[in-house]
Amino acid sequence: MIRVDIAGKHFGDVQVLGRVRFDIASGETVALVGPSGIGKSTVLRIVAGIDTRFQGHVERPEAMAIVFQEPTLLAWRSARDNLLLTQPGLTPEGADRALAKVGLEGRGEAFPLQLSLGQQRRLSLARAFAGKPELLIMDEPFVSLDPEMAEQMMGLTETLIAEARPATLFVTHATAEAERLATRILHLEGRPATLRA
Ligand code: ADP
Ligand code: MG
Repeated sequence: MIRVDIAGKHFGDVQVLGRVRFDIASGETVALVGPSGIGKSTVLRIVAGIDTRFQGHVERPEAMAIVFQEPTLLAWRSARDNLLLTQPGLTPEGADRALAKVGLEGRGEAFPLQLSLGQQRRLSLARAFAGKPELLIMDEPFVSLDPEMAEQMMGLTETLIAEARPATLFVTHATAEAERLATRILHLEGRPATLRA
């Protein structure tokens, strides 16, 4: 169970967030929706523990994975090593199984730049799930993809979530994405931003 209780967040003199409270149970997918600049990524960084300068309290599990908009891979390491280096306890066989699950069967030796952008994104997803996260955080993961690739990635993400059943928090400004993937939608609005009642 993830418990988020933000009382406020300022950047200098500017208060960006007011009270933002929500829980996420394991197996639940919560979408955080709102216009650009409202504070979605700020909430996400606080939930992830990347930003600790806020008023309030967050309870989160140890096992956590974050998927960013762009795939963040180690360019000079193979696909398999990208998984092994970030997931302690993962075996090479486990890494290859994780690659196969995202359609990268037999590509363990490939370097990220030898993969297409779609394959790089799938490698990022494989890495996120290889650590068996109890909390999965995604920031606009399907933005800037062509419709076909977005569709592919959403389908794959759905499958991986259904299998691993983490508590998932994902940020998007696209309500269609939220309606498709989320079991619950939270709207961020106002300034300082709070959750719509
Ligand atoms: P969103 O993800 O919803 O587009 P952000 O959380 O990135 O919005 O930003 C919310 C607000 O906080 C914006 O007005 C942005 O300019 C401001 N902001 C974000 N990060 C910083 C920062 N490091 N320093 C100052 N202001 C910031
Ligand atoms: Mg953002």
